[in-house]
Amino acid sequence: MSRLDTPIRRNDNVVVTTGKDRGKRGRVLKVLPDENRVVVEGVNLISRHTRPNPSKNIKGGIVKREASLDASNVQIVCPECSTRTRIGHRILGDGRKVRVCRKCDGVVDK
Ligand SMILES: [Zn+2]
Repeated sequence: MSRLDTPIRRNDNVVVTTGKDRGKRGRVLKVLPDENRVVVEGVNLISRHTRPNPSKNIKGGIVKREASLDASNVQIVCPECSTRTRIGHRILGDGRKVRVCRKCDGVVDK
């Protein structure tokens, strides 16, 4: 599997297309290109039970954090047309390669 399989980048807004969090939207916190996985804010939350450790100022209890999910289970939400979309690529006049929305043709990269 190629590292470039997913067009998703950190800070993209995505929507989950399958699984228990289907329909949830969130910001991409992290991309793991080698595993083709992403971590999305507020999505795929798991509970971590932690022990108190006063010397490190850690309180015990249950901490919720995001687990990664497969990048193929999310789609980018286009900032221009606000719908989930497939991503294409375009080379601009200045040679920059940008991601574009296949629906409205808007540029996804800022
Ligand atoms: Zn669009």
